Amino acid sequence: MSVAPDSAPEPLLAKSKTARATIAAMEEILGKQIPVLDGQGFLRVVDYMGDDGAIVQAARVSYGQGTKHTSQDRGLIRYLLRHRHTTPFEMCEIKLHLKMPIFVARQWLRHRTANVNEYSARYSLVPDEIFKAGIQDLAVQSAVNNQGRGETLPAHEATQLTGEMQQAAENAYALYLRLLNENNQRPDQQGVARELARTVLPLATFTEFYWKCDLHNYLHFVSLRADPHAQKEIRVYAETMVEILDKWVPLTAEAWRDYVREALTLSGEERTVLRRLLNGEKVAKSETALSAREWRALGKALGYDPESETYPTA
Ligand SMILES: Cc1cc2nc3c(=O)[nH]c(=O)nc-3n(C[C@H](O)[C@H](O)[C@H](O)COP(=O)(O)OP(=O)(O)OC[C@H]3O[C@@H](n4cnc5c(N)ncnc54)[C@H](O)[C@@H]3O)c2cc1C
Repeated sequence: MSVAPDSAPEPLLAKSKTARATIAAMEEILGKQIPVLDGQGFLRVVDYMGDDGAIVQAARVSYGQGTKHTSQDRGLIRYLLRHRHTTPFEMCEIKLHLKMPIFVARQWLRHRTANVNEYSARYSLVPDEIFKAGIQDLAVQSAVNNQGRGETLPAHEATQLTGEMQQAAENAYALYLRLLNENNQRPDQQGVARELARTVLPLATFTEFYWKCDLHNYLHFVSLRADPHAQKEIRVYAETMVEILDKWVPLTAEAWRDYVREALTLSGEERTVLRRLLNGEKVAKSETALSAREWRALGKALGYDPESETYPTA
């Protein structure tokens, strides 16, 4: 994780010695921009509260067991996460400052359990910045997943199309400036109100917001958005958040990887198929009630060729 020096100091925040828990690895990145999307966007930890110890402390209150050895903290955190005893994780909080294209922010802001303050395009000028998709990211619509990408386009075609995407966005931005009369093309005339002029801007323009969330919902967010099903452009932010998780609450991060990220949840039908496989049987897809997608996902998880109609595969 590379960090840039903080470009926006926060003069109103008093810096003082504190008796609160602080984490050296978090103090190191605090306030510094972490570039995302090849530096087009960023993520910055503005503040955080609590550590792995705060989770243990809260859980022990609810169990009434008093203070235990540190060596047992890891076990308790793993137990809590495994059994979805979630409230102790809500004792930790984090505040991020984020900059991202609007099409990513639309997905981001669907997560309702955070507190948000966003840049106002009614009040301020939208900056002249347009998201540039990488040539290597320009892929065709996936044939198997309606919400995904398939094969990458040939480089010459991708270069041509990204150029056209860029041009279209620049034209829209030029119209935005014209509506606002920013270039004073219509002297002595007021520009169109910012709240309306912005409607010509594409989803590729950028927004910024502060986002405060507790650890339970942060884990929920990264579980959904660092998942391969999520769109790449939000996934890269979520992966950066996973790196922050490792610094902030390493024991929780370890437990989350084990019980959520790397875990495999099986439906009743999938369990039946697995039992038959463990009994040494060959199972054909047609004998099961699994959908094509479920069949492929199960095969992939078990290390078989997901395109095969029969498991196990060699
Ligand atoms: C891969 C992917 C594809 C998606 N595709 C689409 C799509 O095509 N269309 C679309 O509209 N959305 C889509 N979404 C968004 C998705 O449906 C959720 O809105 C989003 O992921 C936020 O999840 P959440 O509601 O669990 O999170 P949060 O809003 O953070 O809520 C966390 C949890 O709190 C509880 N909660 C919060 N608010 C309420 C409430 N008002 N009532 C009841 N319980 C509540 C729920 O248990 C919820 O799981 C997609 C998300 C992903 C990850």
